[in-house]
Amino acid sequence: MLRLHILASGSRGNASVIEDADTGRAVLIDCGISKKDFMARCAEADFDPARIEAILVTHEHTDHTKGLGVVLRGLAKLDARPDVFANPATLAASKPLQEIAETHRVLSFGADASGTGKAGIGIAQKSGRPTELELAGMRIFPFVTSHDAAASFGFRIECDGDVVGFMTDSGIVTPAAHDALQDVRLLALECNHDSKMLERGPYPYVVKQRIASEFGHLSNAQASDELASLLSNRLEAVAAMHISENNNEYDLALKTFAETLARENHSARVCCGYQGRLTSIG
Ligand SMILES: [Zn+2]
Ligand SMILES: [Zn+2]
Repeated sequence: MLRLHILASGSRGNASVIEDADTGRAVLIDCGISKKDFMARCAEADFDPARIEAILVTHEHTDHTKGLGVVLRGLAKLDARPDVFANPATLAASKPLQEIAETHRVLSFGADASGTGKAGIGIAQKSGRPTELELAGMRIFPFVTSHDAAASFGFRIECDGDVVGFMTDSGIVTPAAHDALQDVRLLALECNHDSKMLERGPYPYVVKQRIASEFGHLSNAQASDELASLLSNRLEAVAAMHISENNNEYDLALKTFAETLARENHSARVCCGYQGRLTSIG
């Protein structure tokens, strides 16, 4: 069985661990938090960070990458040297990743799907699913998301018949994402903002436009629609992710998902990823 440890989620920093609870082997998705927070939340999750065998980078934005260097140095002291996986376009756009590449193995994935930003998304979808990866005993299927990054991905993670779906940082649900998130047991789905709060909130107009655009972030309503379309007998828990601290509230995102499940008469549990504390599900 897979476990998901959301160490942090939100615009100030993201990091999530997918752990195979039977073997203890794990992958880390993104690392945009400090070494102190990373180590503290792994300890709180009762998870040994030395068991991380690979780090997957969704995209180059600093809330997903700025802690990579310090955390890798911390892991090296524990004798762990996980490979880092990023799309070539992500590597080309990320200073922290380029610095890491000087001392660490940075391997590419989804090479055929680079340029998934504004110009390239149509091409990426036509080229089909990016290559699958085998890491830490898991099969990992990256899929293209829709975000204002050089390239951006979510992941479907399969292990011994168990499945986790993971998607943040996407302005719309791409057809590739919708396909990849079918029939998962644990679902981590972006639920970034309440559209009305965003509209009335403090951000400059261009930033509001960016967040609400199809290359921004999923609103509560968009996430709920997608959740409703992904309900299956297998789904046991859903986590609302990348919740904005300015344009949303944790309770509002939780309520939105809970209401969607109640309306559809589905018994999956609802939780959310927090900026400042751990959530573990599995
Ligand atoms: Zn982000
Ligand atoms: Zn982003």
